[in-house]
Amino acid sequence: MAGRVDLDGNQIKPITICMIGAGGFIGSHLCEKLMSETPHKVLAVDVYNDKIKHLLEPATLAWADRIQFHRINIKNDSRLEGLIKMADLTINLAAICTPADYNTRPLDTIYSNFIDALPVVKYCSENGKRLIHFSTCEVYGKTIGAFLPKDSPLRQDPAYYVLKEDESPCIFGPIEKQRWSYACAKQLIERLIYAEGAENGLEFTIVRPFNWIGPRMDFIPGIDGPSEGVPRVLACFSNNLLRREPLKLVDGGESQRTFIYIKDAIEAVLLMIENPARANGHTFNVGNPNNEVNVRQLAEMMTQVYSKVSGESSIETPTVDVSSKEFYGEGYDDSDKRIPDMTIINKQLGWNPKTALWDLLESTLTYQHRTYAEAIKQAMSKTTAN
Ligand code: NAD
Ligand code: UDP
Repeated sequence: MAGRVDLDGNQIKPITICMIGAGGFIGSHLCEKLMSETPHKVLAVDVYNDKIKHLLEPATLAWADRIQFHRINIKNDSRLEGLIKMADLTINLAAICTPADYNTRPLDTIYSNFIDALPVVKYCSENGKRLIHFSTCEVYGKTIGAFLPKDSPLRQDPAYYVLKEDESPCIFGPIEKQRWSYACAKQLIERLIYAEGAENGLEFTIVRPFNWIGPRMDFIPGIDGPSEGVPRVLACFSNNLLRREPLKLVDGGESQRTFIYIKDAIEAVLLMIENPARANGHTFNVGNPNNEVNVRQLAEMMTQVYSKVSGESSIETPTVDVSSKEFYGEGYDDSDKRIPDMTIINKQLGWNPKTALWDLLESTLTYQHRTYAEAIKQAMSKTTAN
């Protein structure tokens, strides 16, 4: 760890990071990376710590003096400013960020993604502290191409669908499509952070993740989360596979996504942390443009991969179509296609994703099978017995 240098060959000094939302999916992987590969300290803020328990205990862990957990709800806790003041850098990951919530809990979604982030931005700006804020690829909304006729040849032209940080417009649906409450709140906090930079000199970096997936993402309903809960697609499909039930394709599974392995994405975040001069003032897409599939193809691939890692044959009817109204309720809408442009992150940080979709699904589903298969079997046999 001693000889770590940044991209310009300068020695990297150990820093203290206030990481808000450290107990979530991305936070847990970022904490793991910072503890095992860097000398930096983390003040980990969250309401939960289950996903980072392995980094906090026992006290004999090599990094025990470099990570502290603070159980704080940032909505209403006066300790937050003190922690931001103690740190050199704040990373804000805290958010409600599962699509099933955007149209059913729009107020909580808007408060979480905009109002609750305001004090974090303010404390960083007032105290001259650097901020890395997690936004989303969803701020782009729909592609321009989505509005062209279905058979238009222009739909094949990247100019109509590749998403560029400094050029693409943000295209959301009407207000009654409450799906867009999340994207709109994230867009406004991005604009506020940008304005704090322009008017008050805040040093900031904005991250737009494009479907980061991997172990510890979300929860398996009825096992380590509510039975009626609807997580993001990786956990929904994992749950269906573990229970040997058909994977549900919302509105035919035609929407397209690019998936990136969490470990590749975390490399990009570490480069931002350790190269402030190259990252400050920038908004970065972080995704893998080579891993594009539509949701139907994702379901087919996950079914094949799960069969391989579990040794179980797949069921007779592996998928079933459901309407978005039935699955998510009133007010759902969708992003049609998400290909990140990589020019800016390449130029500033020289970063590229590595892991192919099949490989990242194989390691993730191996984890899901090892972690949950037994618990699901027990839960299902209890239900049958009752
Ligand atoms: P996550 O839900 O696993 O993690 C968020 C964490 O924030 C949770 O542990 C939660 O307990 C915590 N949190 C929420 N509100 C809080 C509060 N008031 N006080 C304290 N802690 C609070 O989600 P994630 O996938 O790790 O996402 C992290 C960030 O990245 C979010 O801002 C999300 O919008 C953004 N993002 C992620 C993805 C992705 O692919 N995973 C995609 C787009 C955007
Ligand atoms: N989806 C699906 N079946 C599920 C869960 C999700 O067809 O069981 C679809 C969803 O409608 C969307 C895509 O999968 O088109 C990705 O959903 P996710 O929840 O991961 O979040 P998003 O990428 O939309 O932010």
